[in-house]
Amino acid sequence: MQDRPFSIVIAGSGTAGLLASLILRRAFPELPITVVSSSKIGIIGVGEGSTEHWRSFMELCDIPLERMIVDTAATHKYGIRFEDWTTHTPDYFHSISGSDDIFAFGVHATYVGFFEQEKLLTNQTSSIGLIRNKISRNNLHKSTNQYHFDTFKLNEFLTSIAFNKRIRFVDAEISTVKTNSETGNIESLILDDGSDIPGDFFFDATGFNRVLMNSIGAAEWESYSKYLLCDSAIAFPTESDPSGQIRGYTRARAMDSGWMWEIPTQERRGNGYVFSSQFCDEEQAVQQAAKKSGYTIEKNRYFKFDAGYLKNCWVKNCCAIGLASSFVEPLEATSIGSTIQQIKQIVPYLAAYQPGNTASQKHFNKSFSILMRNILTMIRLHYYSDRTDTPFWKAMADMPINPELEELLEIWKERPPTRYDIPNNNGEMFMSPHLAHVAQGQGIIDTTPCTLTINRMGLREIVNSEIDKMRQARNNHELVDHAAALRETVQIDQEWGNR
Ligand SMILES: Cc1cc2nc3c(=O)[nH]c(=O)nc-3n(C[C@H](O)[C@H](O)[C@H](O)COP(=O)(O)OP(=O)(O)OC[C@H]3O[C@@H](n4cnc5c(N)ncnc54)[C@H](O)[C@@H]3O)c2cc1C
Repeated sequence: MQDRPFSIVIAGSGTAGLLASLILRRAFPELPITVVSSSKIGIIGVGEGSTEHWRSFMELCDIPLERMIVDTAATHKYGIRFEDWTTHTPDYFHSISGSDDIFAFGVHATYVGFFEQEKLLTNQTSSIGLIRNKISRNNLHKSTNQYHFDTFKLNEFLTSIAFNKRIRFVDAEISTVKTNSETGNIESLILDDGSDIPGDFFFDATGFNRVLMNSIGAAEWESYSKYLLCDSAIAFPTESDPSGQIRGYTRARAMDSGWMWEIPTQERRGNGYVFSSQFCDEEQAVQQAAKKSGYTIEKNRYFKFDAGYLKNCWVKNCCAIGLASSFVEPLEATSIGSTIQQIKQIVPYLAAYQPGNTASQKHFNKSFSILMRNILTMIRLHYYSDRTDTPFWKAMADMPINPELEELLEIWKERPPTRYDIPNNNGEMFMSPHLAHVAQGQGIIDTTPCTLTINRMGLREIVNSEIDKMRQARNNHELVDHAAALRETVQIDQEWGNR
């Protein structure tokens, strides 16, 4: 065993690199951690919606919530509102709240009851504040565990926290990756000024550049293009809602060749159109997005991607994280959440890592591929639509479905969704309740198996009383205006925070 401390080098300081530095610092309080990135290259500058993994990351790393709200212009996110994704349901939410663990022999009694009555799950189980742009007075900023933020402010915020946790930052471009000629392991990163950064374990968080993985010839990509059509996006900001209100959710509006996001921060809205380049080019995307949003788009950014993930994100002594390892598309904001899962998952392997620990590597890569297949299942589910009104939606209707989703669709014809649909042993992002909200919105859930289940299991009374309780709970929160609550938090911070 070596006598000097094991050292970790993270290439890249976008959201992924910074999350890695903080989670790894929490796991390894004394190890040297260096982050190398280039301010000339900068960060991708999108990625403003998070998932419920966000709060658990903050708690794990002891990051104060109010500080994050103030410093990153954050807003609350209670879910996503899907508009025009089908011909039968003008809009529905995917928002997990309320009591989703009322099981009777593995069946979500309340869920099955709402399925049977054809009542949208979120509308029944979430606080009425969701559609009124209000939040719960009682636990205010903790009334959700996911947020929207300004990605550049988030970058500064996380950097300053990492800096205070003894993470070393080096600003330079990585020009070469030096490997050991016998083992193929990375020995150091050679920078553009000729200096080098040696390490024992490396993280490639260089975004779509995949600098380390490409250098060690480990960038074999599992593409989802056979299941998904979207491969492009434009992004553009608009002013905050002129009403002064701030929505507590992301809007996902289906478009002719994809869908459009709208994410509110405290100071503006971030918007984008995710589309398929087979049916739309950048210029057409700008025109369509301008028409839909009602804003003139003077400047936009354009992104091209191939949905999928690295077949092996951990190779030799290097693990790719964030965009360097995977990206499906912006729908459901899966990227930051899966990055958090990925980094947390590698900790136990890294804690006992020795060069040549191939069983660990294989096992971790297998878990990551299960996580990524789970994301594919969720994303593909949204496109399982009866829309065929444009060439994109027609083509989407003819696209193959991944085997995991195909299996669920077959099961759901025979019985309602249950907690056992997703085993949850590999850190998957989406569990049965998540899938259920979207499946119902997309019109996939059949009521007949629900009625059979309720009757045969004698659940009618439980279902009715649980549904009543849930309805009462839904209307029983003391609410405050979302925008006003955020303004007040910022104001208190300005008036008192620095004294
Ligand atoms: C259109 C779009 C919308 C998205 N929306 C969401 C969303 O709503 N929610 C979500 O969770 N995710 C979203 N994502 C994904 C999200 O943007 C990323 O997960 C997140 O920003 C993390 O990116 P990253 O750190 O992996 O890469 P980047 O931000 O690209 O960071 C890469 C880092 O590597 C450095 N670097 C690169 N090459 C070199 C080099 N040669 N030498 C030195 N340094 C180098 C860069 O300077 C930078 O610091 C979206 C992505 C796209 C494309």
